[in-house]
Amino acid sequence: MSLYVILMGIQGAGKGLQAKRIEEHFGIPQVSTGDLFRAMRTRRDALATKVQQIMASGQLVDDETTNAIVVDRLAQADAAGGVILDGYPRNQIQAAFLEAHLAEKGARVNSVLLLELDLFTAFKRAFGRVSAADGSSYNYYYNADGVDFNWAQDPAGQFPPRLEASIAGGGESLRRRPDDASADAIIKRIDTYLETTQPLISYFEARDIVNRIDADQSIEAVWTDIKRALE
Ligand code: AMP
Repeated sequence: MSLYVILMGIQGAGKGLQAKRIEEHFGIPQVSTGDLFRAMRTRRDALATKVQQIMASGQLVDDETTNAIVVDRLAQADAAGGVILDGYPRNQIQAAFLEAHLAEKGARVNSVLLLELDLFTAFKRAFGRVSAADGSSYNYYYNADGVDFNWAQDPAGQFPPRLEASIAGGGESLRRRPDDASADAIIKRIDTYLETTQPLISYFEARDIVNRIDADQSIEAVWTDIKRALE
């Protein structure tokens, strides 16, 4: 039996963490098209150069290229029992292609896991997030124990102030992802997410395979709901 799962969720919904757990528990790898494209960064062939240019301009890679890369990835040995798809499909053309491709293998999309989070919470999870070199993560709004946070006013009075953070008592300074530091950029990402996922959700709802998971719970509780949905 194979298991093909599409993982969808707004930034900050905890997709990355839950994908790791699905990988370990169900023994299927996570396939992120964004990661596959980023991995082409060091290549110099024509395809990789084209993808690099598209990504640098912030646009989507064309469907034909994206579909071909996914087919190639799904043909690898570790994907024989299925995969967790992240960032793909991004539109209905890709969705229909994926379905047809899986049908040829005698498989199908078993579940679309939709990690749901209200938009304001999603915003705060991104805007308040900082991380340490070892990958541990803290949040100004939700998980600030043991961290000194400071809103540094811009000398020129620009808004918003900069969020500085370090481990309490003069410890390691924590890093904020540059794309989380701008409220505008976060809102734009949320808008893009809504715009692109709404039609896809309707598409898969018509097939009755969407599992809505409340992502505004503890990591454990979200995981319990995911396991229940997939089992
Ligand atoms: P992501 O990490 O999912 O945000 O993807 C980073 C970039 O890779 C996107 O901005 C696109 O340029 C490209 N990309 C990733 N997945 C897809 C997809 N399914 N279709 C088209 N382009 C994609």
